[in-house]
Amino acid sequence: MPLLSRRAANPDRLAPPGLKVRGQEAEVDFESNRFGSGAIERSRPALLRTCANPNCDSGWLHLMRRRSGRVFDGGWTCSPECTRVLVEAAVRREREGLAGAGSETRRHRIPLGLVMLEQGWISATQLRRAVEAQRQARGGRLGVWLVRREGVREELVTRALGLQWSCPVLGIDQHDPEAMTGFLPRLFVDAFGALPLRMAAGRLLYLGFEERLDPALALAVERMTGMQVECGLVQGSLFRAAHTRILAARFPPVQLIEAASEPAAAQAIARAVEKVRPLDARLVRAHECLWLRMWTRPVTGPYPDPGSVRDLICSIASY
Ligand SMILES: [Zn+2]
Repeated sequence: MPLLSRRAANPDRLAPPGLKVRGQEAEVDFESNRFGSGAIERSRPALLRTCANPNCDSGWLHLMRRRSGRVFDGGWTCSPECTRVLVEAAVRREREGLAGAGSETRRHRIPLGLVMLEQGWISATQLRRAVEAQRQARGGRLGVWLVRREGVREELVTRALGLQWSCPVLGIDQHDPEAMTGFLPRLFVDAFGALPLRMAAGRLLYLGFEERLDPALALAVERMTGMQVECGLVQGSLFRAAHTRILAARFPPVQLIEAASEPAAAQAIARAVEKVRPLDARLVRAHECLWLRMWTRPVTGPYPDPGSVRDLICSIASY
């Protein structure tokens, strides 16, 4: 019988000397502890997994509590209270990051029209007419006007955007939407106009955008997935077709929450972790949203399976 599937016949056996096991709280369930280094834990009680809350005051009692998965930021917690403490700290950390992001200076970029003029891809007359059309219509992107009114090749507009952003232009050959939906929530793909394109060497994720890059989102995905995210631009019409296709594919289930305050957000997130009891969970900020991802099944393949993770996206009204 595998060690990890064996239910402890007598929980007292695992208690440190002198500790009396009391009531239901003291139940030890090794059956559900399938993912940790349980063999070591079982044979050497001194090395039992300890609570990740540095201020946990449950002492030895936490070892006796039900040991099903409840892991946040890679650390196991012994109780809902300890989960709450870790989640609160993570929410605070992410919110402080937001304050720092606001002070970032915007990089100056050469206007698209000038880039194209400089490259000799359009004439001054074409640029003037496109700007005028844009002004009269009170909007619309200059690149779109150049293509629509002046017959400029869309590919050149994308190349110019690539020069403007100093980023590569990415192709969408062999794009498999179904394989890519596990990397980020559908809401982010939709709202931030991101297109997970492909993975390379198991550690590099290409994220495509139509008109401008989104470094904040890329950073969030990088922190969440642990992959290096490479951003690039995709030619408009190709992007839109692929974007529509991926939005129709199956994404991880998501829960959307709007919290009135930071403590309310932390409470809702901690509650979700307690309810799902994930193998691991992580919290990162993506723009003004807090994104919680919970892994409910062990990772098996190179691509994240949308069925093995659950997302929660929380916005805080006071942001
Ligand atoms: Zn604890």
